[in-house]
Amino acid sequence: MLLTFDLDGVVMKNPFSTGVFPEVTGRIREGTGLSQKEVMGEIIGEAKSRMGQGRIVDAYDWDDIIALVGQKLGFSGSIDVAELVRKYCTPEHIYTYPEVPETLKTLRQAGYPLVVLTNGFRKYQLPVLRALGVADLFDAIYTPEMTGAAKPERDMYLAPQRRYPGPHVHVGDTVIHDLWGANQAGAISVWVYHDLPDLVASLPLSRRAGHELMEELITQGIARDLNAAAYPQLTTVDSMPDFVIKSFGELPAVLDLV
Ligand SMILES: [Mg+2]
Repeated sequence: MLLTFDLDGVVMKNPFSTGVFPEVTGRIREGTGLSQKEVMGEIIGEAKSRMGQGRIVDAYDWDDIIALVGQKLGFSGSIDVAELVRKYCTPEHIYTYPEVPETLKTLRQAGYPLVVLTNGFRKYQLPVLRALGVADLFDAIYTPEMTGAAKPERDMYLAPQRRYPGPHVHVGDTVIHDLWGANQAGAISVWVYHDLPDLVASLPLSRRAGHELMEELITQGIARDLNAAAYPQLTTVDSMPDFVIKSFGELPAVLDLV
């Protein structure tokens, strides 16, 4: 059985929000009269615009987005985003979520293929996995520039499914990308939700996804997504997970139920 993993918010925290973007916006804003927040707004706006045009892979190309925004705002320097990612791969900016390394080791020993399925380009994600010492626990890494698609698109899920045929379990935290996307691709969806209320978390794993509160939690998850409008076909019902876990360490017990 193939296991695929979202990275950000599930396996690791990347250095973009606390290291890379603050430096990028600080450099671009000099001489523009804009605040860092306004520069960040331009960067997010460009990413969203690409998404709206259906250029979903380009929406994750931060080097290209930042070069374009810099040029538009009169910034004359050049910024190597992948280099900044490596610079900020320090304990203040990156970490693995609790129970991640030991759980991945357990699953590896059990013989499951462990595959990364992330919308972050390889050049931004691999250095973080390496710095955290978990890169070698995965058998393969699938990223948008490699597959020509991005979650929640079906083609993103099909890429690992072709290489590892058979049952597929996907684990992620973003409702649209990881639950709706996995469901559409015929995978079993596992939602990692660290803020899962005790009312649901206190139930056995087999009964959590069916709790009446889940529909509301999933609706809230969709509302948190900045790009929900890009998916008019999306519904709450089609985005419901098969399983819900509050911490990564609960994953092996879920797999016993599959
Ligand atoms: Mg995520």
